[in-house]
Amino acid sequence: ATPMSIMVGVGKGAQLGLLVKNAEALERLERVNTLVVDKTGTLTEGRPKVTHILPAAGFDETSLLAAAASLERASEHPLADAIVAAADERQLVLAEPQDVNSPVGKGITGTVDGRRIMVGSAKYLASEGMASDILQGRADEIRNAGATVVLVSISGRVAGAIGISDPVRETTPAALAELKREGIRVVMLTGDNSVTAAAVAHELGITEVEADVLPERKGDVVSGLRNGRRVVAMAGDGVNDAPALAAADVGIAMGTGTDVAMESAGVTLLNGDLVGIAKAIRLSRATMGNIR
Ligand code: ADP
Ligand code: MG
Repeated sequence: ATPMSIMVGVGKGAQLGLLVKNAEALERLERVNTLVVDKTGTLTEGRPKVTHILPAAGFDETSLLAAAASLERASEHPLADAIVAAADERQLVLAEPQDVNSPVGKGITGTVDGRRIMVGSAKYLASEGMASDILQGRADEIRNAGATVVLVSISGRVAGAIGISDPVRETTPAALAELKREGIRVVMLTGDNSVTAAAVAHELGITEVEADVLPERKGDVVSGLRNGRRVVAMAGDGVNDAPALAAADVGIAMGTGTDVAMESAGVTLLNGDLVGIAKAIRLSRATMGNIR
């Protein structure tokens, strides 16, 4: 493509809410036939709220939430923000967490008031030897409604679960419809549990889903598709999406997300509206087509 056509493309891109960091990314958009898309904060709004608090036998809602929120003050994850906000709403007094460790894509561990607390995925707690069988049935009910469940342990015992819901963005169904019209294959990629992922995918009519994926593996999934001769755009918002954004032919960061994501991507969707991507792909196909 000539520099002129790229400039026209960049200008049109801006009208669609796309901030183009490198012109090559825009050029590559023309050939994209696969969009890998993160769930939380990309298909969904990224403003999760606590909807369920399920204490295990011997614990109560208030102490469960207070322990989890005290620890989550140390995290910037959207799920952590939701838990802290729920505690603030109930005007709970929170303690200062100590010795905090927060493995990306898993959860967080630390000491609160002298007790070891963990908050995170069922897989993460299981990896530390904590079984959550007692809560399994109720947790799956919440997951089947498309919400995320995090487990909380206190002093080595599972103390309960917290259900957190993040609505699908209003613009997501229209964006997916437009991508379908353009013949783009859509793959959902998420660190969330497979039951939650399947529920959201079903609601949106997405048939390809990779769930329970750790951040480094997100990059591998994108590379795998590229090795299978797919031209891949990846859309994501989180720190956990950075490896996948960097591995894609075109990385697309949500402007509503983290700086790390935007630094790893060639394109930023300023308002987080995925319709912008679908239109940009169509436009890019048209623009590049015109100058041949
Ligand atoms: P996604 O791919 O949906 O954006 P992440 O990779 O950020 O998700 O996280 C994957 C899973 O790890 C979450 O669904 C949650 O169970 C757990 N997790 C990650 N960070 C936290 C945290 N700070 N507090 C609780 N759970 C967390
Ligand atoms: Mg995300």
